Amino acid sequence: MGDICYRKSTLDLIANKLLKNYQHGKFLYGDPQSVPIEQIIELEYGLNIEYVCLRKNGTVLGQTVFENCFVPFYDSDNEQYSIMEVQSGTILVDISLLEDENSGRLRYTLAHELAHWLIHQKIYENSQQSAAKVDGNIDCQTEWQADTLAASILMPRMQIKKAFYKTLNLSAKGKISYMAELFDVSKQAMSICLKTHNMI
Ligand SMILES: [Zn+2]
Repeated sequence: MGDICYRKSTLDLIANKLLKNYQHGKFLYGDPQSVPIEQIIELEYGLNIEYVCLRKNGTVLGQTVFENCFVPFYDSDNEQYSIMEVQSGTILVDISLLEDENSGRLRYTLAHELAHWLIHQKIYENSQQSAAKVDGNIDCQTEWQADTLAASILMPRMQIKKAFYKTLNLSAKGKISYMAELFDVSKQAMSICLKTHNMI
């Protein structure tokens, strides 16, 4: 696999460009709000989102398919793993994320997989691999890049700054809750974002 270096600043630029092009930049310049990641994936990039049971134990949350291929899934009716054919340009999401009462994890997984599609196509092309998100596994460089780009898309820096001034009277915990709800991300993701920007 080739090594592509993306610094955080480069990933921020990619996220900004994406948001600038979507609905006249409404989600970058308008009122701070939840970025419609599903619509961006389907309408802007023409990708297909499919919900399946990827693993029995929920260890794989999402998977981006770059080339037509066969992908394993857990067939809960027959209680066994099986394979299905998936077309290029499909983002598979584990069905367990739909049951989460907080949509933050689902949205983050979608953004993470879109990030792979945007910046890692060359790495996975011809390698007969697809990019799978394994819960909690961010040790490799490509995973860090996908997570960082996902965060920049869902929590654009300038929107975070704009929204943050309204939270000045709140405690750190209150700031995280308010901002997480506003951008529809998990409290964990927002907490990391605010710490990254030295805001809490
Ligand atoms: Zn990944």
